[in-house]
Amino acid sequence: MIILGSKSKFIDGDLLSSLECPVCGRTSYGSFGILRYLHIYWVPVFPLSQNVGIECLHCQKQLVDKQLPPPLKLALKKSIFRKKNILPMFSGFLLVLGLISGGVSLIN
Ligand SMILES: [Zn+2]
Repeated sequence: MIILGSKSKFIDGDLLSSLECPVCGRTSYGSFGILRYLHIYWVPVFPLSQNVGIECLHCQKQLVDKQLPPPLKLALKKSIFRKKNILPMFSGFLLVLGLISGGVSLIN
């Protein structure tokens, strides 16, 4: 039986100070990304979706994905889902692939 499923991982982003909170009026936000991925036997295989959000550091008001202005959403995605943040997660799967292809070439 193959154990297959999807999980989410939280990735911390940079602090922002260019937006005003609609609730408390402060301008300090933390940003974050939520990466949803497919896993086989709990080994992450590939990403399914990438969402970003920001949270007011004062009142914890959150704005997620569609609530964000599109240019900000794009900029956050670029800064949070960088290869160096994502690739290490999937290195386990790459290692397994390498072992399998190495094993196959030993047999032949
Ligand atoms: Zn606030």
